[in-house]
Amino acid sequence: MPAFQTSPGMRDLLPEQSARWRRLQGVFADVVGAAGYGQIMTPLLEDIGVFARIGDATDVVTKEMYDFRDRGDRHVALRPEMTASVCRAYAQHRPTPPWKVWYSGSNFRYEKPQRGRFRQFDQVGVEVLGVDDAHLDVEVIALAHEFYRRLGLRRVTLVVNSLGEPEDRARYVEALRTHFAGAQLGEQSRQTLERNPLRVLDSKRDVDVEAISTAPTIGEFLSDAAAEHFETVRSGLDRLGIEATVEAKLVRGLDYYRRTIFEFQGGTLDSAQNALGGGGRYDGLVEALGGPPTPGIGFALGVDRTLLACDDEGVFGPDERPLDAFVVDVVGGGEAVEVTAALRAAGLSADRAYDGRSMKAQMKLANRSGASHAVIVGPDELASGTVVVKPMSRDSGEQRVVARSELVGHLAASLRVDLAGAASPSIGAPAVAGPDDGARTRGTATSGTATPGTSTPDARAGDTAGPGPSAPDDTKDDER
Ligand code: AMP
Repeated sequence: MPAFQTSPGMRDLLPEQSARWRRLQGVFADVVGAAGYGQIMTPLLEDIGVFARIGDATDVVTKEMYDFRDRGDRHVALRPEMTASVCRAYAQHRPTPPWKVWYSGSNFRYEKPQRGRFRQFDQVGVEVLGVDDAHLDVEVIALAHEFYRRLGLRRVTLVVNSLGEPEDRARYVEALRTHFAGAQLGEQSRQTLERNPLRVLDSKRDVDVEAISTAPTIGEFLSDAAAEHFETVRSGLDRLGIEATVEAKLVRGLDYYRRTIFEFQGGTLDSAQNALGGGGRYDGLVEALGGPPTPGIGFALGVDRTLLACDDEGVFGPDERPLDAFVVDVVGGGEAVEVTAALRAAGLSADRAYDGRSMKAQMKLANRSGASHAVIVGPDELASGTVVVKPMSRDSGEQRVVARSELVGHLAASLRVDLAGAASPSIGAPAVAGPDDGARTRGTATSGTATPGTSTPDARAGDTAGPGPSAPDDTKDDER
């Protein structure tokens, strides 16, 4: 039987990739956590109405949603994005504004798969609800900018625009409708024009170029208040030294945006996929979901495309931190249970071989594991309560026989690791090198490394915690 494969547009993330993924989430969590944002985790599945409010003229809602009726005949959808879910959460829980939250997780859109475009893809993002201040727009844009900077991306550009107040936008849409009605457009854009004249501006098709280049721009329609808001945003970015280009025909996909919108573009993917992330103000969305009138702003950044951009720019590569120790036990395998447990409890990373393999086979595995030391227990060591510590690369010192009780201290000193923050080892760990001479500290946050306090539990479908098969089912049939 041929082996099953993932569905089109869906991928497995194998350990090498997922490690980088988690590190990226860690960088994001560090950046936004330091700005006072708390993490929100919303369900992957919501009532279809939550997403319908995004706008009935967007492809995300009309063509790309994974929606279906559940066993209780509810019309539900897998989330295509997270802003609507966050606004639903705000309307449901009514937290005290300002509410500053961040998220990380998977979304689902039934799009044509290609490089940088998947049917299940991940985003990290923030939303702030309850603040109308243009300085917040600056903060939010600056956070995304800082995230890209920390990853090491240098070829990311920021474009901004204002869609004005709803009335400004409505007048602009009418002007576009009139303009495009009398212009030369391809068949696809003709259809888009019927549903959403703004989205015609997104077309990259040759037949539409002329009509788009002569189209009116939103700037001519902005009210004084909207123009002033936009000016505050631009000068705020300027003060922070963040370069932003005004792109008068930037509209962005979702219908709910008002006033500030922005996009971060990478230099390397095809132009249709060059948006790494973006966001904007959406002052009416909470209300549309049954909450109080609430201003909102946020952004979502594509994790998949950001990592592709990192590959293209040769930055933020795989984490090369090797294992600290690989335990080779040639006296039955039971000693390795104890030694690896003690090393791990002390905050060192350790692995071992299984299945009673020969010394030669175990040393081969130790080599392949990339561990910086092999810790060997043979009959002589077992008898004398010692282990052999063998550095795996020639330049990292001599092979030594070390008492079992000294192993943790010896390895920590040789690795120049400060174990101060880790659990107390079961076998004594003497003092080790200080932080100024290149020592690593375990258990503390370092930029670019996911740490227990900040890393994101992976919310990919299937990994999400839920009641196991034995959990009581308290859903009565007639309530489903
Ligand atoms: P949007 O929610 O459409 O504004 O998208 C924000 C970001 O999410 C985009 O800039 C992309 O980086 C990412 N994104 C959106 N759709 C997809 C997709 N189908 N596959 C991969 N990334 C996506």
